Amino acid sequence: MHPGTFEYLSAGSVGHALELLTDHPDAEVLAGGHSLLPAITNEEVDPDVVVDVSEIDAIQGVELRNNVVEIGAGTTYAELQNVERLQDDATAVAEAVSVIGDEQVRNCGTIGGNLAHPVRVSDLSAALIASDATIVTVGPQSERRIDAAEFFAPAAATDLAADELLTTVELPVSAGNTSSAYAKQQSATMRYSLLGVAAHLTVDGGQVSDVRVAANGVTERGVGLEPVEDALRGEPLDEDTIETAASRAGDDIDSAAMIDDDQASAAYRADLLPIYTEQALERAAERAGVDLAA
Ligand SMILES: Cc1cc2nc3c(=O)[nH]c(=O)nc-3n(C[C@H](O)[C@H](O)[C@H](O)COP(=O)(O)OP(=O)(O)OC[C@H]3O[C@@H](n4cnc5c(N)ncnc54)[C@H](O)[C@@H]3O)c2cc1C
Repeated sequence: MHPGTFEYLSAGSVGHALELLTDHPDAEVLAGGHSLLPAITNEEVDPDVVVDVSEIDAIQGVELRNNVVEIGAGTTYAELQNVERLQDDATAVAEAVSVIGDEQVRNCGTIGGNLAHPVRVSDLSAALIASDATIVTVGPQSERRIDAAEFFAPAAATDLAADELLTTVELPVSAGNTSSAYAKQQSATMRYSLLGVAAHLTVDGGQVSDVRVAANGVTERGVGLEPVEDALRGEPLDEDTIETAASRAGDDIDSAAMIDDDQASAAYRADLLPIYTEQALERAAERAGVDLAA
């Protein structure tokens, strides 16, 4: 439990951070420190250099541009909780942020730190996939814009390079008849998500015209639930349709790929998945003004 020493360098701009990361290929990026500092303390990583990006103004805060909500990677969860626009335009993401860890975690943890090395229990993975988010990174040579579904797919091509910085998360603004929700079962011991489901619904004349549903805590990374989407698209939105669609949540998930760990067995997670899918869909439908009891 005795970490080695490291050189601390503070970056003043994105360009400066990229220079420092190029000059020190084994450096670790420090944002809120809630994942990195425990990892150093537990000797899981032993960097010679730590590059602090928390003073870079260009990756802080939330802006609305051309119907897109742009969230700087260095924005903390607590700052996001205070953005009214996020509650209205990206409710599933706002809800996911509000249930991350506890107040201390939300005061320091940043959206970029959550995504830079996505873990299977990241609450944001389901919410960002269902919201059709785009993740923007910059490296010494170029910028990359990666769809959230692709970003969370277990493919090395979307992993961040050591000299690459995650700068922005972009969320399309929801249209008036679109609404979303995030439903989570919290781990009793760790406060992390045991399993979470985000649903994003567009309803026209009582019928589902567009839908995205995604889950975390099921497989190694966040995953889209296409069979649920297929069962809802074009259908009238009522309790029965939602229940039937939710029952298909696990259809495309290979049981061997289900997380099975000391927090919950694969069988328990498989039981939870349709339940939380139904909850997220019901809440999104009610927010879209659908009277499910009618
Ligand atoms: C007690 C506790 C409870 C938690 N509960 C939850 C939970 O319920 N749900 C959940 O989703 N998460 C949870 N977390 C995880 C938490 O969300 C992450 O620890 C946090 O968001 C990491 O962000 P950070 O800014 O502290 O990152 P840091 O610890 O500073 O960095 C983490 C990693 O990301 C890299 N990094 C950071 N920013 C960037 C960037 N802009 N570009 C490139 N690389 C970068 C760093 O190199 C580092 O390896 C919990 C953590 C704790 C300690």
